[in-house]
Amino acid sequence: MKRFHRCWAEIELTALRENLGFLRQWVGPGVRLLTVVKADAYGHGLRQIAALLMQSGTDLFGVANLTEAEAIRSVGKGWPTLMLGACLPAEMESAVDLGVIPTISSVSEARRFSEIAAPRRTTVKVHVKVDTGMGRLGVAWAEARSLVEQVRTLPSLEIEGIYTHYSSAEDDPEYSRIQADRFVKVLDELKAAGICPPIVHASNSAAVLCERDSHFNLVRPGLLVYGVVPPGQRTFPGALVEWLRPALSFYCRVSLVKSVPAGTRLSYGGTFVTTKETRVATLTAGYGDGYMRAGSNRAQVLIGGKRCAVLGRITMDQMLADITDVPHAQPGDAAVLIGRQGAETISVRELADWFGTVPWEVLTGITYRVPRIYRGGHAA
Ligand SMILES: *Cc1c(COP(=O)(O)O)cnc(C)c1O
Repeated sequence: MKRFHRCWAEIELTALRENLGFLRQWVGPGVRLLTVVKADAYGHGLRQIAALLMQSGTDLFGVANLTEAEAIRSVGKGWPTLMLGACLPAEMESAVDLGVIPTISSVSEARRFSEIAAPRRTTVKVHVKVDTGMGRLGVAWAEARSLVEQVRTLPSLEIEGIYTHYSSAEDDPEYSRIQADRFVKVLDELKAAGICPPIVHASNSAAVLCERDSHFNLVRPGLLVYGVVPPGQRTFPGALVEWLRPALSFYCRVSLVKSVPAGTRLSYGGTFVTTKETRVATLTAGYGDGYMRAGSNRAQVLIGGKRCAVLGRITMDQMLADITDVPHAQPGDAAVLIGRQGAETISVRELADWFGTVPWEVLTGITYRVPRIYRGGHAA
């Protein structure tokens, strides 16, 4: 059977490669890049993206679970990989065997890793996480020095890094400043006690853009690697936002074209009723592909280089668009859900707004049944 995709994503490897180069230029020498590849590399395909980032010179990977770490190991041995979440008790042995760098928020986690490492005659490198106001992982900043001092006494452990995470870097400079100050206070206290973990980091994508004095010696961009700028209240200074290019485009096809008279109900629930004669295209994508139902009667797609409104409810596998202004549209034509066609572009951010969500959820929401097609180089 000849493969003809009904709904697919294209990933420009050249864009990713260049984005990594721009990020490196932006943060300057002496700052390492940890590329975040959790959730199937933000929906781009973990193995392929990991291979590309290895070739393009990422320094470390950031993952959310051990399956992701294993996938990276299957592509290339020996890449430092930081587990950004807490390891479950049942995962700790595997984490050590995989050589993953765990994140430590408590002395009990550290003790367990030490006990696992000792009989294996190995040293587990760990990064201690400091909660400066995110309230998710990490030791409270006021107790961070004490935790580090306790972890240091445990055998078979090495504190390779210390880090924190911003909760609102894209929106709130004041709160980010408070978080940064708390973190620096911890670092100063440790320094006074003669403790200087070699790797220090804080910045996600938003902070890479607008907290340039807190890059320390490693940054942790996710979204920016894929060429998407985080939405938020703050305007991002500097050229990086112009340099970056989105790597992912998302497509489906027109499967049927028809004209319907005024007064026609369209799709489930009849939430859209035509007010005039309308040309309607049936499209081969729906929420089963990750095109979220929340975009019903709100989102737009590109057909024939023109913006076309999504009409009525988005269903699992199909949806409808108004092609009254695209008279030549016909079955088989590509419709762009994310990306460019002619002079028009639909960005991940715009689609996220229509869905009432954020770009991270749109990208990671593109489902398994959407084939990822890679362009511009070879990947795993
Ligand atoms: C996901 C994640 C990141 C990357 O966030 P972006 O906003 O996509 O850059 C960085 N650090 C941690 C701890 C994360 O969990």
